[in-house]
Amino acid sequence: MKEILVLGAGYAGLKTVRNLQKQQGDFHITLVDRNDFHYEAAELHEVAAGSQPRTKITFPIQEVLNDKTTFVQDEVVTIDRDAQKVTLRNHDALHYDYLVIALGFVSETFGIPGAAEHALQMVTIPTAERIHEHIVETMKHYRQSHDPNDLRLLVCGAGFTGIELAGALTDERKKYAELAGVAPEQIEIVCVEAATRILPMFDDELAQYGLQLIEKLGIKLMTGCKIKGINPGEVLYTAGDDEQPQTIKAGTIIWTTGVSGSPVMGESGFSQRRGRVIVNDDLTDQEHKNVYIIGDVSAFMDKQSNRPYPTTAQIASRMGAHVAKNLAHQLRGEATEPFSFVSQGTVASVGNTHAFGVVGKTKVKGYPASAIKKMIRNKSLNDLGGLKEVLSLGCFDLYH
Ligand code: NAD
Repeated sequence: MKEILVLGAGYAGLKTVRNLQKQQGDFHITLVDRNDFHYEAAELHEVAAGSQPRTKITFPIQEVLNDKTTFVQDEVVTIDRDAQKVTLRNHDALHYDYLVIALGFVSETFGIPGAAEHALQMVTIPTAERIHEHIVETMKHYRQSHDPNDLRLLVCGAGFTGIELAGALTDERKKYAELAGVAPEQIEIVCVEAATRILPMFDDELAQYGLQLIEKLGIKLMTGCKIKGINPGEVLYTAGDDEQPQTIKAGTIIWTTGVSGSPVMGESGFSQRRGRVIVNDDLTDQEHKNVYIIGDVSAFMDKQSNRPYPTTAQIASRMGAHVAKNLAHQLRGEATEPFSFVSQGTVASVGNTHAFGVVGKTKVKGYPASAIKKMIRNKSLNDLGGLKEVLSLGCFDLYH
């Protein structure tokens, strides 16, 4: 019997397992993840803002496995491709015939001084929960301190993650104000962004719509401001061509300037850049045809732009489905198929009832976009979990 080892139960790894489990054949799957639950990483901002508890964006991994799969809860330490062996923190090493590496992302601080120590990270369920606890503590602290900086929530980076987080924070503004004993208008939400033009994936008209929406919701967007360092309660940045650093203080500082693939890739000797490894057309490792690399640790090149596709939940899930198909081919002694990716679109939510983006070739805005975003989430839950997960965690009140 062939042993298939899948590392990581995020969008990519869990989709691989879910689809493989439907295949016939003489194989067994072992799935390893440090958590015994899957979490919807694209929804972490809701837990951070306090709009959803962790139970609304997680489900137990065991719930979606069948008797083809054994689950091991542990942390991957290193991967030895020559010995076909994976070392774990607390269990004996695991051997494999086929390996699927889907170890996901970590926060990228670009070595900016103080970013890892003095800014809150939003990469896992505990870190997202810590952000919400911090906001609650800081708002309560204002009642004694009367320091207006306690009322300022500062998001570092206005990529999709930063914008979706800032939007979720505006939804909770009233709750924060009550905790602090102030009017909601006194809660200030600021995004500090190095680029002068945000939302580079959208055309001018849609990016302008996004900007207006952000402004309408009362988010202060500081573009052209490059963060140079973080001190406790303070962000240092340079604005435009001015080399002289300026500062802005805030009781809550959250880091969302981008992500890297898991450090396990570099530590295991893969040739990688920011934890991402360039893969073959069929998603296998360049040196080992029995090793697949997918999701945020994978760099699948877009031949037109000669750049890797961006790391998104959509591409991770599609890679997972493709690997399940290719593994089934390999188990039958057949050739693998090349992966191809055409984005079905991108929708950014700004709070629970506002969103904008592109679906297929159509631009979507406002409430309809928000409803589409919720449908995308329900589809993801159905793909990775099943009906039970959609019914317990899905969004059905599409317009609220
Ligand atoms: P990102 O790299 O897309 O955005 C990070 C932002 O931080 C950029 O705008 C960058 O200019 C800014 N930045 C970097 N360094 C800075 C500095 N020193 N000072 C100020 N600003 C700085 O990262 P992300 O937002 O975490 O997104 C990661 C990936 O996930 C992207 O591909 C994104 O499209 C995807 N994503 C998609 C969705 C969605 O589809 N709804 C949601 C979240 C993330």
